[in-house]
Amino acid sequence: MEKILAGRGALVTGSTSGIGLGIAKTFAAAGAKVMLNGFGKPEEIAAARAEVGALMGVAEAPYSAADLSKSAAVAQMIEEAEAALGTLDILVNNAGIQFVAPIDEFPPEKFEAIMAINFASNWYAIRAALPGMKKRNWGRIINIASAHGLIASPYKSAYVSAKHAQIGLTKTVAVEVAQTQITCNAICPGFVRTPLAEAQVPPLAKKFGISEEAALKDHLLEHQPSKRWIEVDEITQAALFLCGPGSSGMTGAALSIDGGWTAS
Ligand code: NAD
Repeated sequence: MEKILAGRGALVTGSTSGIGLGIAKTFAAAGAKVMLNGFGKPEEIAAARAEVGALMGVAEAPYSAADLSKSAAVAQMIEEAEAALGTLDILVNNAGIQFVAPIDEFPPEKFEAIMAINFASNWYAIRAALPGMKKRNWGRIINIASAHGLIASPYKSAYVSAKHAQIGLTKTVAVEVAQTQITCNAICPGFVRTPLAEAQVPPLAKKFGISEEAALKDHLLEHQPSKRWIEVDEITQAALFLCGPGSSGMTGAALSIDGGWTAS
């Protein structure tokens, strides 16, 4: 792969699995120094660090154990990233959790956790990362939002609110730094084939007494006209484009990668 990110330092939050790990690997293969973050079993974290490290030509990628539900930990993580990478040029706010329930039955602590991890952590991370980017007059900020940043589904009041808030934050940061070489964009995936999303299929099949294939197409992907998963690589390639030279005029955008969901 062409090393279009050579010399860049990148932090990808929630990169111990799924979309975040995919972006970390893609950025490392494109020449970036990448710091990982996220939870998992020690052996899973070690495997992710080794895998991304190999692409960087080192034994293990740097890693921050920051719990993004805590604002002080987010600021600390940015300091750790600047120290480990030399410069923090690319920030990908990807970590996220989900909980589904009618709003009148939604546990307040679940609402608060989703708002803190999926949204507030983005605000704190950008706040701490921007001064360094401004000093160097170059930066790429990517917030991994969702189709749910643009439209709603029932029982996801916290997730949909947090994802809409991420897009508001993306637009605001973009206009604040529009006269610099720093861009801030959001990616809005539909259903992406990750362990988290795939785990939703068997319970649906059981609930409706149908095959997993039917549960996927008729229920999980009910509103995704392509009727197929978005693959992690289809997200990572968009993230790479947003960090490359071809996207320098693009900022404040919410880029849909959702098989036509929000178009339908
Ligand atoms: P995932 O569960 O595979 O990964 C989530 C990551 O976030 C993990 O590394 C996890 O350890 C980390 N994380 C969770 N809580 C954390 C905390 N408190 N502090 C630090 N890290 C924490 O999920 P994914 O499917 O790869 O989702 C990644 C992002 O993409 C999320 O923001 C999600 O909302 C968004 N998204 C996913 C889909 C999909 O279909 N998979 C669709 C649209 C948007």
